Amino acid sequence: MNERETLKINAKGHLEIGGYDTVDLAKDFGTPLYAFDEKYIRAMMRVYRDTLEREYGGNGLVLYASKAFSCMAVYKIAAQENIGVDVVSGGELYTAVKAGFPANKIYMHGNNKLVRELEFAVKAGVGTVVVDSYDEADILDSIAENAGIVQDVLIRINPGVEAHTHAFVQTARTDSKFGFSISDGTAEKMTGYILKKPNLNLRGYHCHIGSQIFEKQSFVLAAQKAMDFIAKIKADLAFEADTLNIGGGFGIWYTDEDAKISVEGYAGYLEALISAVKNKAAELGLREPFLVIEPGRSIVGEAGITLYTVGAIKDIPGVKKYVAIDGGMFDNPRYALYQSKYTVLLAGRAGEKCTEKVTIAGKCCESGDLIAVDVPLPEAKRGDIVAVLSTGAYNYSMASNYNRNFIPPAVLVKDGKAEYIVKPQTYDDLIRNDVVPDYLK
Ligand SMILES: *Cc1c(COP(=O)(O)O)cnc(C)c1O
Repeated sequence: MNERETLKINAKGHLEIGGYDTVDLAKDFGTPLYAFDEKYIRAMMRVYRDTLEREYGGNGLVLYASKAFSCMAVYKIAAQENIGVDVVSGGELYTAVKAGFPANKIYMHGNNKLVRELEFAVKAGVGTVVVDSYDEADILDSIAENAGIVQDVLIRINPGVEAHTHAFVQTARTDSKFGFSISDGTAEKMTGYILKKPNLNLRGYHCHIGSQIFEKQSFVLAAQKAMDFIAKIKADLAFEADTLNIGGGFGIWYTDEDAKISVEGYAGYLEALISAVKNKAAELGLREPFLVIEPGRSIVGEAGITLYTVGAIKDIPGVKKYVAIDGGMFDNPRYALYQSKYTVLLAGRAGEKCTEKVTIAGKCCESGDLIAVDVPLPEAKRGDIVAVLSTGAYNYSMASNYNRNFIPPAVLVKDGKAEYIVKPQTYDDLIRNDVVPDYLK
């Protein structure tokens, strides 16, 4: 698939997504609005799935890391594309289960899974739980025993590879709330511990080295270290792991500071990973493990955009020009959290030359409530539609009702048609769980 099918500028000079003019989308569905291109999501799921099939005989599974964007429709799409998903909370698991997602293809993560979440996972028949602490192993073992099952598990390990990415989204250092380190022996100790649990069936290991990574070598290194570790455990404990889950983290294009990888280009990451695993297996005399990857951002990130309407404009001469929109950190907290950069367009004048640099401000009562700082734009007027690109991942899923703003609805666009996948909230939704105790009445 050509990525130009996702976003293009049409004959009117308007931005189009999935064949739908975004100015019309804003008119038909209101703003703020998340819009997702269904074909792009499916193409990304397929490119990983097909590469695993072609290069590794299908001896593995692609999981969509659903924390990137979790709603019932996206689990349906993942199920139709015959891939698995990972979930990191009872809420994500519930959403997947309600969407009818096959539980045996769900992996459950989390550094502090709640007892009720583990109970839910076992009851729902979750295929694999990725264990991340000793007491989680104890609790899960007894839940499995009570349920009369043996639960497949992986151990989360830290291979000690530092991916080149933003420090805030780095998770594989030894100083991490996630996982057990290979280098200090704790991962081996944990292996011995789990192997003694009668109701847990250890299948292998999981690691996740970070996010928004472009260097193939980071994944290759992580896989090599994990394979070396599997060989060491085989020698020391006579246990040979049959599953290696290497996590997600493939980078996407946000601005022209990032590489723009075509859908097909992502196959290259998996190919590099697969050949590293094969070579190591041959070198170390190991079985080729069942290989799992967990891309999230790269599946939905570039598939999504957010549409806003311009409201107040404040020009502070010689300082900044603020263009305020009807959204903000409540629908996209990533600038506020990480100073993440985005590409911004005027949807109705997408082909026009940019004549100024402006800061896109949200409507929350926080001066840090910004979406993009000093971005080039044609001169915006009240009522213009602003499109922020690459917002499909970690936007809706991180949204809140801060300032009692509505979390925007989301539409899925395909062949010029759009359907809600998340409906608009109402004021009543905002007070649905509010209670006024009697003594205040
Ligand atoms: C966040 C996360 C992913 C997905 O990462 P992306 O950067 O979105 O691809 C996969 N696995 C685990 C364990 C994660 O925490």
